[in-house]
Formats: sequence, C-alpha cells, structure tokens
Amino acid sequence: MTMNECMQIVQAAEPRLLTRLRELVEIESPSRDKAAVDRAGQLVSAWAEALGATVKRHKQKHFGDVLELKFGPARSPKQRALLLGHLDTVWPIGTLATMPWREAEGKLFGPGVLDMKSGVVMALEAIAAAKQLAAERPVTLLLVSEEEIGSPISRPITEKIAQQCSAVFVLEPAQGLAYKTARKGVGHYQLRVQGVASHAGVDFSSGHSAVLEMARLLQTVANFTDLSKGLTVNPGVVRGGTQSNVVAAECIAEIDVRIVKASDAARVQRLFRGLKVTDKACTLTITGGINRPPMERKPGTIQLFQQARAYAAEIGLALEEASTGGGSDGNFTAAVGVPTLDGMGSVGSGAHAAHEHVVKKHLVERTALLAAMIAGS
Ligand SMILES: [Zn+2]
Repeated sequence: MTMNECMQIVQAAEPRLLTRLRELVEIESPSRDKAAVDRAGQLVSAWAEALGATVKRHKQKHFGDVLELKFGPARSPKQRALLLGHLDTVWPIGTLATMPWREAEGKLFGPGVLDMKSGVVMALEAIAAAKQLAAERPVTLLLVSEEEIGSPISRPITEKIAQQCSAVFVLEPAQGLAYKTARKGVGHYQLRVQGVASHAGVDFSSGHSAVLEMARLLQTVANFTDLSKGLTVNPGVVRGGTQSNVVAAECIAEIDVRIVKASDAARVQRLFRGLKVTDKACTLTITGGINRPPMERKPGTIQLFQQARAYAAEIGLALEEASTGGGSDGNFTAAVGVPTLDGMGSVGSGAHAAHEHVVKKHLVERTALLAAMIAGS
C-alpha cells in the first residue's frame, strides 16, 4: 500500500464525501437534543451499514445514542484501530437559517462543519479506502453524542472500547495543519461563599461580606497558576451581592483549571481543598475537580505520529505535531494508556464561531492519510 494509492482512491470518492458532508451539516444536532442527534446518527449508521458495518447502538435516555460501528473481520492477526468522533455540535436548532451550508473561496461553511461533521465523513471514506486496499484490519468507528458538553455518559463507553484497541485516531480538527500529540487536562471548580447580609448604611458592622471574602480567596486562587508547568487557573465567572447598599450574603466563582501532567491533578485538588476563609463568619463550599485528564505526549503516540509523518512525506506533505490547551475525548483514551493521535480531522478554523469552516483542498489528502494509518499497520 502506498500513499499514492490512498490518494487515488479517496480522490475518486471526493464527490460522495462532499455530498455527505453537506447532508450531515444540514441535520442540526445540538448536544442536548436527543432526537436531533439521533437523526444525525441514523444517517451515519446507514452509510456505515452500506459499507458492511455492524451497528451497535448504546441507547441513551437523555442524550443521543452512542454509535459503535464495527468494520472488518471479527478475528484478525492485526490489532483493532479505534476512530473516535462525535455527532453533536454546539449549535442550536435553527442555526442553519443564519449560517447555511455554503461554499466560497475554497471554504465550506455551516454549523459543525469543522467540529466535527467533516471528521465523521472523512472517517467513513478512509475506512472505505482501506477496505478497497484489501487491508484486513478491524476498525471501530465510535461516535458519541455529547462531547461538546464534556462527554458525561459516553466516557466509560469510550474508555472500555479504547482498551480493546491498539491505537486511537481522533477526528477532531487539525491544529493549523498539524496533528495533536498532547492536550491539557481540564478541570472546573466552583467556590461558594456564604456571608451575613446587613444594611450598608444602618447596620454595616453586623454584616460579613461574601464579595470581599471571595475577592481575598480569588487572590490566593490566582496564585495557583504555574506557567512554567503549564498549569493555569482562571476565575472566569464571579456572581455575588444584590445591591450596592447591602453587605453581600453570597458570592459564587466559577474557575477553569488546565494541567499538562496527570500528577498535577492531585496537587490542584490539594490546593483547592486547602482554601480557608479569613472572615470566620463566612463559610466556604468548594465543589468540582479535574474532569478530563491530560493527554500526555507519550512514546506510543509519538510512534503513531512518526508513522503518519512518513506517509505524509510520500506525497510531499510536511506533517507537524502540536499540543493544545483544549480537551477532547482523546484525553480519556490516552489516560487509559492507549496510544492516541488527535487532530486527524479536517483543516479549517472558527470552531464554535460564526465563521466556522473547512478548507476544501485539504480534505482528500487528510482522508488519504487517515486511510494509510488504518491500512498500514
Ligand atoms: Zn469536537
């Protein structure tokens, strides 16, 4: 199998890839709308079945069903690869009215086109190409339904299936033109301070301000940031008090945490648990924790990347690797010890933004590269 063969096969399939991408983008699928996400899932399952997949639906009550699509022989000397994607988008129903599918200046626009409906369609074409090359490798395409809200129900399914595979290819968008070999871990904490309310003019001294107490606490929290370790702590939201003439009874802060090393999770947890109020009449409640472990740059992942870079070089592409502060489901599969290569989806920009788009000219080569990664080992 050569990259040129992969390119020829995918090139011939490009019209189908583009038609399907449009069809999938035009089925809106916000994370919290089960019926909508299931509609997108139905379309993709039908395509997968036509390609010979066995479809296993992990049924869900409150979210779209999680789709496990299995291709290739059940038994094979080659180890199974997992292609990992999501069907949901951040865009509410009705977005198409203001952000319709359109093609302009070599770019494809539409809600979820980059993150990651193109990744899903590319995965199917890559699997089809590998099949045409008679690569007997078993492949699972796992499509979750709620990645954009942190994968609350699919995480255990993803982890279990990943552990039956020798490699995970994540269909999230590329970083520029690069594949992603590391991602930060993500955490969220909420601080809630309960103070004592009073009239700021008549009865100032009997009040204990939750807002002031929070201000002191946030000073401490801000110092948890350690840029040399890639550890960041961001109090992104603060809500507190009712009126300027009332000593505030309550204040809440929402804090985002990012870590590079898995071992920093415990350290961050200790720091938050160690927070204490200065004004003893105030009480502090802390909730939250690290919910996505970091995807560390491990040898297995580096090996996958080097393999991809060698294939890319065959067609004159200089593939680069990158790391990002953003999380994906690749964080989960990497943390359970399965070599994971991320950012294997399409090239474009504006994920979660009104100008979200895919650069059309990269679709074929990226899909061919994915096909080579499936077929080549
Ligand atoms: Zn995504």
